Amino acid sequence: MPKVSLLHCKEYEIRLLKDTIRQSLSNIGFNLDTLKKARVVVKPNLLMPSKDEKAIITHSEFFRAAVQIVKESGGTPILLESPAVHSLERTIKKTSYARVVDSEKIEIANPAKTRTLRFDKAKKFKHIDIAEGYFDADIILALPKFKTHGITYITGGVKLLFGAIPGVEKSKMHLRAQTPEAFSEFLLDLYGAMTYGFSPSKPIIHIMDAICAQEGEGPGPAGKPKWLNAVLASENGIAMDYVASQIAGVDVKKALTVVNGFKRDYGVSSPDEIEVIGASMDEMRAQDFEAATGGSVFSNMFRWPFNTPTFKNLFLDRPAPSEEKCTLCYQCKKICASGAISESSGKRKIPTYDYNTCVRCYCCLEICPEAAIRKERGMLQWVLGG
Ligand code: SF4
Ligand code: SF4
Repeated sequence: MPKVSLLHCKEYEIRLLKDTIRQSLSNIGFNLDTLKKARVVVKPNLLMPSKDEKAIITHSEFFRAAVQIVKESGGTPILLESPAVHSLERTIKKTSYARVVDSEKIEIANPAKTRTLRFDKAKKFKHIDIAEGYFDADIILALPKFKTHGITYITGGVKLLFGAIPGVEKSKMHLRAQTPEAFSEFLLDLYGAMTYGFSPSKPIIHIMDAICAQEGEGPGPAGKPKWLNAVLASENGIAMDYVASQIAGVDVKKALTVVNGFKRDYGVSSPDEIEVIGASMDEMRAQDFEAATGGSVFSNMFRWPFNTPTFKNLFLDRPAPSEEKCTLCYQCKKICASGAISESSGKRKIPTYDYNTCVRCYCCLEICPEAAIRKERGMLQWVLGG
């Protein structure tokens, strides 16, 4: 039976964070002696350069607390993450992580150097190239931030591991798995590979920063911080994401990495099997948490004629940049794997979008630093109730 620790934590104060994380690990039966002499990859969510208060990235003090626990337990922490567009070095430099990395003297692994992880039990993606540093680790400490997400509805333990794939290679995966359903199945293949695919196997411990989470149009600058005052931990990322969804009060049926995760042979097949230790989900449940919007009931249909440009233009949300907010930084163009974005033309001071080429992955919306891109409803979306 998978255990999920759920504890109150109302601020990012280092002693409180360390006490809470230690208690969380104890609740799930993780012995800190395991960290002794271990190379411990610590993987936060560092999606992009951003201030801690925006709740886009795992809070830097939360990361510091985990790192200090590893060091005090006799292990060696190694920071490993691959941001969406910018290099890891630049992202660290432009966030509070610079201070933490400097003062804690943390080794940083190169996220661009990859090796193929093979997992024969995957549904479709049996070979995935991930950062080599994960192979060299004895233990992986995954530190997700709980946020809403335009495609996967929520992002937490399962989705965090997407960052094991280097830089813009990630967005290319959206071309190979274009619908929310297909993309969630890919994420579950990756989660399975990282949980069961290493030889020898290595523990992966998920500790979630849900103290200040993100609601609305997450997981980037368009989302809004929302205090959930919670720290969760588990050896099972699917079970942890289920509990996090419950305390946020979102419709877990829409979280495909959770509901489809239950259908896999990944250690949990229903909510009834999850043992929650610490606070109860009822007492922790948030009021008025704003779930991710957009999408369409038809967004999972990907066979002809439902994958044609005409269908998408009529029935799916499309990303639309706003002239008032856009600074023409072209980070959207850089991340767009389908080549749907080009430079502005004519008098309009926004990038030009080719909606016939756009696969509706919403990566551009996710990383736009100005939150200048919104979802515009397809012309006939209302007709079909999407
Ligand atoms: S839409 Fe956003 S990411 Fe794209 S150019 Fe404008 S500000 Fe930059
Ligand atoms: S334009 Fe935006 S939503 Fe469309 S494919 Fe490119 S990154 Fe994805």
